[in-house]
Amino acid sequence: MSDNWKTKLQNQPHLGLLWDEASRIKYSMDYHHFSPILVRDLQGSLGECIASPTTEEELDELLAFAAREKVPVTVRGNGTGNYGQCVPVTGGLVLNLSKYNKILETSDGIMRVQAGARLGKMESTARRAGYELRTMPSTFQSATIGGFLCGGFGGIGSIRWGTIWDGLVTYLKIKTVEPVPRTIELYGSEVRPYLHTYGTIGILAEVGINLAPRMEWMQWAVAFNSFADAFRFGREAAEAADIDKRLISVHEWPIPACFEPLKLEPDQAVVLMEADEQSEEQLRALITAHQGSVALKVAADRYHKGVGVSDFSWNHTTLWARKQNPDLTYLQLGFDNARAGEQLALMKQEHPEVMNHIEFASQGGELLISGLPLLAYKSDEQINGIIRRYEEMGVSVSNPHTWDLDEGGRSYSNEKLWAIKRSQDPYELLNQKKLKQATTG
Ligand SMILES: Cc1cc2nc3c(=O)[nH]c(=O)nc-3n(C[C@H](O)[C@H](O)[C@H](O)COP(=O)(O)OP(=O)(O)OC[C@H]3O[C@@H](n4cnc5c(N)ncnc54)[C@H](O)[C@@H]3O)c2cc1C
Repeated sequence: MSDNWKTKLQNQPHLGLLWDEASRIKYSMDYHHFSPILVRDLQGSLGECIASPTTEEELDELLAFAAREKVPVTVRGNGTGNYGQCVPVTGGLVLNLSKYNKILETSDGIMRVQAGARLGKMESTARRAGYELRTMPSTFQSATIGGFLCGGFGGIGSIRWGTIWDGLVTYLKIKTVEPVPRTIELYGSEVRPYLHTYGTIGILAEVGINLAPRMEWMQWAVAFNSFADAFRFGREAAEAADIDKRLISVHEWPIPACFEPLKLEPDQAVVLMEADEQSEEQLRALITAHQGSVALKVAADRYHKGVGVSDFSWNHTTLWARKQNPDLTYLQLGFDNARAGEQLALMKQEHPEVMNHIEFASQGGELLISGLPLLAYKSDEQINGIIRRYEEMGVSVSNPHTWDLDEGGRSYSNEKLWAIKRSQDPYELLNQKKLKQATTG
């Protein structure tokens, strides 16, 4: 690729492009610094120009230009992904969609937005209309819906409504990367190939999602003498049909020591919960039955006002822990429902240095027990050795130390993804090197 494209693009001042080094660094970055391996492997990966379209015409113009000039394009929401998904490894254009962010419609339990809309704004808009988002990441205040669907998985609400694969998305408007970009509208199960595939096969321009009825969430921190006790309580709360909940996040001591604003007592495991105020009595009974103690209770009228318990859940746990100890990194685990307690005990026995963090969710109607444990990085061999051992114990690992979609846990057939990519991104310009040419899947 020659540099002629830059001269041609510089002659388009109406597009508000950024070329300076500070902007190139800022908009080529995400939260892959949670992984020392990714920091090393992605060092020096920078976009050459940052484009932030605000209208569909500008978006089409940029995509047409990229296709004509064969310039790599990496789409970006707000750069809160953890695996370097939106880091442009082959330079080219960073397409920052965070300014393409209008909420277009909220009616009949469905919300339609431009793909750069922030989930926090979508949630507050939905709540004013008597609804709320079904699921959103703990980064909801800054993350975009496009980034969540293409780079995320689930989070707050997933215990109730499942993950991004559980009927969340009703509609996608896709843009192709061609000299005359096409607009493709997809409904229902047609949207699946775009979920968690890092924007490698097409660009989400608009999104329609199903909403949930609004509920009144109280927030709780419940303390236990041991992690095993906290885990048992969390699991029973997850399975209790009479407790309406949006979040159940379980933390082994000393992780709660990092949650400074919550001012928790030392030496105790903690379960962070969001539960509907109508479920208070049932929840209190469960806490008593498990000999937990209420360390924090926040009334429903304080929900999303100031710091909340979800600010310490999912990968926010990793964020707080790394503030205290920047050597800490994490893994992403999936447990066998029938053997989770046993698997956790075995993991502790072999690797006592790994600190347990569990999130309860659901997927396809089944309970999903996920782990985001913390550990200090020593070497790639150490991380890979622990991953291997956990897999031998029957714990599944989605490696968060790779930006390769296959190794990180692709959820869709590679052949089908490539068939779509060839049609919608015929010059293979989108988020290069993230989707391998493998034919298995
Ligand atoms: C502290 C912390 C906590 C987190 N908690 C959670 C959590 O609870 N649950 C969870 O799932 N994730 C979590 N994440 C990961 C991340 O925040 C989410 O996945 C988030 O939704 C990403 O949104 P974004 O707008 O920042 O996307 P980005 O990081 O900008 O992009 C993510 C991916 O999507 C692609 N993309 C973005 N927009 C589009 C588009 N319009 N069309 C095509 N491709 C696009 C990008 O190319 C990239 O591959 C967390 C991360 C951090 C740092």
